[in-house]
Amino acid sequence: MKVRYSYLPQQFAEIDDLLAEIKRFVATGDFTLGEPLTRFESRFAELIGSRHAVGVGSGTDAIKLPLKALGIGHGDEVITTANTFIATVGAINEIGARPVFVDCDDTFCMNVDQLEAAITPRTKAIVPVHFTGYMTDMTKLMPIAERYGLPVVEDACQGILANIGGRNSGTWGNAGAFSLHPLKNLNVWGDAGVVVTDDDDMARNLRLLRNHGMRNRDEIEILGYNSRLDSLQAVVGNWLIGEAKSISDRRIANAEYYDAQLSTIPQIRIPPRVSGMRLVYHLYIVFAEDRDGLLRHLIDKGVEAKIHYPIPLYLQDGLKFLGYKPGDFPVTDRHTETIITFPTDQHITREEQDYVIDAVRSYYAGR
Ligand SMILES: *Cc1c(COP(=O)(O)O)cnc(C)c1O
Repeated sequence: MKVRYSYLPQQFAEIDDLLAEIKRFVATGDFTLGEPLTRFESRFAELIGSRHAVGVGSGTDAIKLPLKALGIGHGDEVITTANTFIATVGAINEIGARPVFVDCDDTFCMNVDQLEAAITPRTKAIVPVHFTGYMTDMTKLMPIAERYGLPVVEDACQGILANIGGRNSGTWGNAGAFSLHPLKNLNVWGDAGVVVTDDDDMARNLRLLRNHGMRNRDEIEILGYNSRLDSLQAVVGNWLIGEAKSISDRRIANAEYYDAQLSTIPQIRIPPRVSGMRLVYHLYIVFAEDRDGLLRHLIDKGVEAKIHYPIPLYLQDGLKFLGYKPGDFPVTDRHTETIITFPTDQHITREEQDYVIDAVRSYYAGR
């Protein structure tokens, strides 16, 4: 048996109605900032529970543009986590600010207890990352941000519809960033991102910034970017968005099945499942003894297990200029050696999951 990692062929297997929709859309020529985008934005805002949703070119830009709107730039420091995907750091770097890292805990999100120690007079914003579908402890983070007067832009790219106490990711800070990249839980056919915010001025600024700063066809109000969410991708988004909730429900059910089975294997440790937190399992990660051996065994058995990520960001060549050195983020380092990601998504079957579980069991039994 082969257990694939990517579920995209299944996700977009039956699309005759979508193709018909696209054909109708193409005939309108409404390609930039068109009606499908406006409709998608209002549905997205409603889904998340925010006043505004603004479609942008990527999840990276969904982090960058709110930081820009907050006036952050050269010489400023922006605090984020040491173990995120490179896009978070890229967004901070693109506006000329300096990323400052805080270590994570076993939920893969920022250890908020270490946040204050990273704040300096140059700190201008905090970008917590709701990594792997967990949420950063926003109930602890927001009071600290408020005490220091620091704006918060949530990187919710992996955490759509995650919540704490019913309050969704992306709605805690000044703005929340989402990605619709094909590998994300709610996905389209290319790059796209969405910023949510309750702040009317922020929303207005974002609409300017994504479209060259143009107030209208003839007037430039500020200098901006070319970062619009394509109306064509919005057609795909509108086709799928009604399923967003059930996609995450199915991911959760599949993850809970893995949890129940894998927790009976002594060499596997399940990360803490936090009560009151809806965790949406963008990635299903556990800690494994002899991880490299297990990974090789699974690959041999046809299971596309992965490591997210094998080299921590702060030790990557491209980030050497930040001056961090090995050992600066011990929890991130420990994770690098012990984490493993199993294929889990809304389309995986029980049969496939059982095959993965058996393969894990057989590895430890046969050592
Ligand atoms: C995917 C992702 C982003 C944004 O990525 P894009 O490819 O630009 O949409 C940002 N942060 C995290 C943690 C991500 O996983």
